[in-house]
Amino acid sequence: MYNKLLSPLDLGFTVLKNRVLMGSMHTNLEEAKNGLQRAATFYAERAKGQVGLIVTGGISPNVEGSVWMGAAKMTTLEEMEAHKIIPEAVHKEGGKICMQLLHSGRYAYHNKSVGPSAVRAPIAPFTPRELSSEEVEQTIEDYAYASELAQMAGYDGVEIMGSEGYLINQFIAKRTNRRTDEWGGSYENRIKLAVQTVRRTRERVGENFIIIYRLSMLDLVEGGSTWEEVVQLAKEIEKAGATIINTGIGWHEARVPTIGTVVPKGGFAWVTKRMMGEVNIPLIATNRINMPDVAEQILVDGCADMVSMARPFLADENLVLKAMEDRAHEINTCIACNQACLDHTFSGKLTSCLVNPRACHETELNFEPTAEAKKMAVVGAGPAGLAAATIAAERGHEVHLFEAASEIGGQFNMAKVIPGKEEYAETIRYYDAMIQKHGVKLKLNHRVSAEELKEGNYDEIILATGVLPRKLTFEGIDHPKVLNYAEVLYDKKPVGKKVAIVGAGGIGFDVAEFLAHEGELPSLNTELYMEEWGVDMDYKTAGALEVPKISPSPREIYLLKRSKGKHGKNLGKTTGWIHRASLHMKRVNMLSNVTYHKVDDAGLHISVLDEPQVLEVDNVVICAGQESLRDLYDALKENGQSVHLIGGANVAAELDAKKAIKEASYLVAGL
Ligand code: FAD
Ligand code: SF4
Repeated sequence: MYNKLLSPLDLGFTVLKNRVLMGSMHTNLEEAKNGLQRAATFYAERAKGQVGLIVTGGISPNVEGSVWMGAAKMTTLEEMEAHKIIPEAVHKEGGKICMQLLHSGRYAYHNKSVGPSAVRAPIAPFTPRELSSEEVEQTIEDYAYASELAQMAGYDGVEIMGSEGYLINQFIAKRTNRRTDEWGGSYENRIKLAVQTVRRTRERVGENFIIIYRLSMLDLVEGGSTWEEVVQLAKEIEKAGATIINTGIGWHEARVPTIGTVVPKGGFAWVTKRMMGEVNIPLIATNRINMPDVAEQILVDGCADMVSMARPFLADENLVLKAMEDRAHEINTCIACNQACLDHTFSGKLTSCLVNPRACHETELNFEPTAEAKKMAVVGAGPAGLAAATIAAERGHEVHLFEAASEIGGQFNMAKVIPGKEEYAETIRYYDAMIQKHGVKLKLNHRVSAEELKEGNYDEIILATGVLPRKLTFEGIDHPKVLNYAEVLYDKKPVGKKVAIVGAGGIGFDVAEFLAHEGELPSLNTELYMEEWGVDMDYKTAGALEVPKISPSPREIYLLKRSKGKHGKNLGKTTGWIHRASLHMKRVNMLSNVTYHKVDDAGLHISVLDEPQVLEVDNVVICAGQESLRDLYDALKENGQSVHLIGGANVAAELDAKKAIKEASYLVAGL
């Protein structure tokens, strides 16, 4: 089925082994201690996994363009020398690698930031200084020199970042370019930086060097480009000497989610499709392409010549190899949560992956075959237990996995029913495949007891028993109106038309999302998604924005919290705004400073800032946190048995599968 995807390109680009590109991701390894060595190992593993062409994280062509002061740049021979180990490692594995050159312009997090005009970005702390005309010329020269250095370091090409609202994009859009000199005003003037950067780079590096230009095909901001302008730019970029055009979707400041888990799979491929036939060089489709079947469909539908996947290669370095060997069911799928990748990147932490903690930690976390096979019991088949059991079995241990429920997955069985989190089912599918592959002895419908574990004579016992929903104690908590989140999401108990959710953490938000939808889901239907988020697929306006057409919530929902302040401030750094915006669109009532008094037939009695009121609701859903389930742990400890405690059973922290899987992985790597 995947052969088509993986057949060699017939476009004459012999450098490309196949049609999948590993898209650029800044991992923060670029700046870490021994980071380039670690990055070399990281990229080499992906090349070994048969990725034909890799693009590095963004590297600035000059100091002002750095994302923050001290961030990676390519400006000196010394920096060039240090990079040599990366292409060398990738070439050893038969891959090709391009360096992404990214000047952040007004998105920079430092007070030396520059831009076409002194217009501050809504997401940046500093107003940029306007570049003089000579400095714009110098910036082009910096790009060309950085490309030359990349070539000297052994890279196979560069990707010039012209999208997502970074410097080149800032010059192109009227929104940010207020200049009256030769770099502003007419469209021809505004795209001059982009075109001349490609032209000068081509002159400098010669013919046998890949130049990918990442072109913003859909700005998703007011004052962005029209479609006609985007096409004009693509043609000019081709003429200037680019080898390939990659698609950029949305500026970072856009208010439309472009890669979050709410975005339908392959949901922006239609944009690249509009460009097909306008230029003669290959086009790459991007965004939310996470599995070979999605990629293949895009190619079969003629949406693009190639596809770019980025985060999916954090989740599984062998994605392409597995597809080639007809083992797609063994792929550890990127679930687009951003929790360990972009949330880390933008917090200055090392990037990794929720479902694969080895990502960017290849030099420190490895699952070597064991020299001494042990008999192990793992209790609980949620994310923590699944990771522990499958890795231990992969290492050669005899693993017995006990699960009280009739299926594996633990709380991910609740996560996967949340609109926009359907992908979480893929993690369960992956672990199911690993259980089969590595011969884990799984016992479902089996709540294991301390006696049984004692009698089993296990060398190691790992408890991953997870959590229970926290119970509250106010009056009427046992009223039939009151449900907890598990009863709603797992047991599917009916919920009325008016509902109050007690607790506005991650699970409270998810329950609100679950209750605010009916019928077809935007996360599963591209047209619906674009309508709901106000994206004009006919591209009638500059930036392609239109008034959102929101299907109303079937329920009147109140999302309540005791604390003061904005709802959702502890949600993910790069995704919290999406959850908030989504619930606002559904007109969910968000109340803070709430004191709960009682539930009775009339509804939920509360005070908001000491002002009493009754919410006349049909149901009250409690999402007030969780408590670790440790009965087994306590019993075993009492018997003096040595056990390992991981995941929610260790620390109950609501949305924390990242910690659960990481803890399991590090534990079992050393057993
Ligand atoms: P659990 O998933 O709770 O699994 C424990 C398992 O142990 C259960 O299957 C239970 O049946 C079994 N068990 C318990 N006792 C026994 C016994 N004695 N014998 C046999 N089996 C036993 N996290 C995120 O990081 N990101 C998200 O977006 C996210 N979304 C979520 C959405 C919802 C609606 C919910 C409810 C949770 C979400 N989470 C999310 C939280 C995430 O699912 C948990 O952090 C994770 O599941 C914890 O894994 P665990 O293996 O420790 O425990
Ligand atoms: Fe994908 Fe989440 Fe892993 Fe990031 S952390 S690569 S979004 S699964």
